[in-house]
Amino acid sequence: MTRALSGRTTTPADIGGHPAWCARAHHCTAERGGQHASVPEVWQTEHGRYVATRYRDRRGRGHVELRVVVRLADDDATAQAQCRHLLAVAYHVVGRVFGDS
Ligand SMILES: [Zn+2]
Repeated sequence: MTRALSGRTTTPADIGGHPAWCARAHHCTAERGGQHASVPEVWQTEHGRYVATRYRDRRGRGHVELRVVVRLADDDATAQAQCRHLLAVAYHVVGRVFGDS
């Protein structure tokens, strides 16, 4: 790996202006002022569908977008509680994975 002046790392695989994981074609909008994008990884599980897409913007900053599609309870109060609980747990997990400690 090499370190750019920005302090961000790049890999030798960044040939032709695209990182090795970039899907190019219609996924990548970097050449039109947008960002590089991976092919979304989809996990269809017993309790829902997870879709993760990796991005890199023009400044070289990486991002991941994670969508989770799950069925909610039929009654509205439980469904609302499930939404809030999922958000709280996701916040906790993201903090564990991306936090400083
Ligand atoms: Zn690209």
